[in-house]
Amino acid sequence: MEVREGLWVGGWKELEDGMGEWTHVLSVDGPHVSKAKEFHPSVKRMTVNILDMPQENLLQHLTRCLGFISRALQASGKADAAPGEGESKASKVLVHCHAGQSRSVAIVAAYLMRLEGLSFEEAMDVIKQANPDANPNEGFREQLKLYEKMGCRIDVNNSLYRHHLLKQQGKRAIGQNSLESLEVGTSKLAQGVGQEAEVVASDTVDPESSDDYAILCRKCRSVLAVSSQVIPHSPPEYKAKVPRKWQAQGRTGQIEQCSSVYLEPLKWMEEVESGANEGKLNCYKCHARVGYFSWSGTQCSCSQWVTPAFQVHKSKVDIVYGETK
Ligand SMILES: [Zn+2]
Ligand SMILES: [Zn+2]
Repeated sequence: MEVREGLWVGGWKELEDGMGEWTHVLSVDGPHVSKAKEFHPSVKRMTVNILDMPQENLLQHLTRCLGFISRALQASGKADAAPGEGESKASKVLVHCHAGQSRSVAIVAAYLMRLEGLSFEEAMDVIKQANPDANPNEGFREQLKLYEKMGCRIDVNNSLYRHHLLKQQGKRAIGQNSLESLEVGTSKLAQGVGQEAEVVASDTVDPESSDDYAILCRKCRSVLAVSSQVIPHSPPEYKAKVPRKWQAQGRTGQIEQCSSVYLEPLKWMEEVESGANEGKLNCYKCHARVGYFSWSGTQCSCSQWVTPAFQVHKSKVDIVYGETK
């Protein structure tokens, strides 16, 4: 379904139907998508892994996706002429997901908002003329309205955007924590943000698991955080993401255990309060350095990205059970 000249939106069906005609394909789909189809080598492709779930962070992918679409449309009539062919070929750009209703539509809507200055509702009207089934999920709609409010700019210094990141992180933490508890060192985190501690039958309790704990400054023993303020992140699924130098050192087994703990932003983090984008975190009492924060996120030693990141290094703190009141 053509939304603007050369710009199409759809699902697998449209991808299939137009095979051989697409000059550029942006796949906004789960991780399985990239290998499923045979493309002519001249087709320029980009794949972004997003699930069609309200809690997925759509905004963080927009800069890349919109850049791809803009370049693709600008390439019209230039680079795509096959050598020897007299005429140059216009770009035919497809943004697709599975059904062509939510993810691909959300990306194209963002494109129209950013490039044509449309509001979210206006962008949706344009897309619906081509595809009456267009219907981004509730979370994406909310995020696109926020995008409009932010003047269609993704800026980590924008307080609205920071608020969004925190909200996303909270949702994600709760979502994944219900599936599994995460290892931290030798102890288990059985709790997520805003969640009650799991109830474990008393005969299975081992003193180091399932309990509340406190994170203390190693130097002065001040309580920096309690377990309910810790934000878990999922461990890596792919060994391939392990940095090369660690692979070479045979550390792939060890690094599964994260060297940092990630917290919600807390009152004592003065640097954060000051509005900086990134900086050190110092103990509020003895001022020893205990960690680092970045609104743009950071990569944990387990290779997982955490955005935003308020991390305390395990080497600078002690994790103590039964001291959280
Ligand atoms: Zn980690
Ligand atoms: Zn201290």
